[in-house]
Amino acid sequence: MARIISVANQKGGVGKTTTTVNLGACLAFNGKKVLLVDIDAQGNATSGIGVRKPDVDHDVYDVLVNETPIKETILSTTRENLDIVPATIQLAGAEIELTSMMARESRLKSALAEVEDIYDFILIDCPPSLGHLTINAFTSSDSILIPVQCEYYALEGLSQLLNTVRLVQKHFNPELKIEGVLLTMYDARTNLGAEVVEEVRKYFREKVYDTIIPRNVRLSEAPSHGLSIIDYDPRSKGAEVYLSLAKEVLNREQE
Ligand code: ADP
Ligand code: MG
Repeated sequence: MARIISVANQKGGVGKTTTTVNLGACLAFNGKKVLLVDIDAQGNATSGIGVRKPDVDHDVYDVLVNETPIKETILSTTRENLDIVPATIQLAGAEIELTSMMARESRLKSALAEVEDIYDFILIDCPPSLGHLTINAFTSSDSILIPVQCEYYALEGLSQLLNTVRLVQKHFNPELKIEGVLLTMYDARTNLGAEVVEEVRKYFREKVYDTIIPRNVRLSEAPSHGLSIIDYDPRSKGAEVYLSLAKEVLNREQE
């Protein structure tokens, strides 16, 4: 049975997509079978792992709204053991269309049930909002991985995120857990970075991963080549830290 993890934070630009793609690739590198599910209409995970628009016949919108079988939407990537359910701009309409649909919170959950026994990990790249798409992700997940950017007001907005987690626990998914909190875009040259790390550790304690993701230009270049960091530049700092994160995720799973 797959472990299903939502990568979520309603703030944009905190490293959700970078983390989904690269953690997914690093878990696949460790021999795990991994499915990425892109539920952001921007489709950054989709393009970032090398899927071109003409290759997409059906996307996650069709799964959620048209009830297309999820297996018909899954595409393989150039990285062995790593597949993706793509998103296209079509998904932009889903937030409104879901409002009036039956079982609108659990449509992704029903779809993922069809492939849960094929994968070890399913990672969902959430959009920067707490709407129906994110609720669908939380309802289908075992846990949530929260990337937090090392900047002023890093914790801002997280109480809203945790409120949504509690609502989903109460109404749709009582087993939902916080998988971990990941500090991203750390800049060792500033004092600010260290202060934020301390503040986030004080608040989330042992939930915070030991691995901290620094700013690394190779991580920002990789998506334009359609490659994860371990395929784009396996010797980079970015590859090193995401491999280390994957080890931590695997170790926590064993505990
Ligand atoms: P989100 O999905 O939360 O909006 P992204 O993962 O797309 O955030 O990251 C936002 C931008 O920052 C992207 O251009 C990405 O390439 C870049 N980026 C993400 N993580 C890093 C990092 N550790 N170092 C440098 N650039 C990064
Ligand atoms: Mg994103």
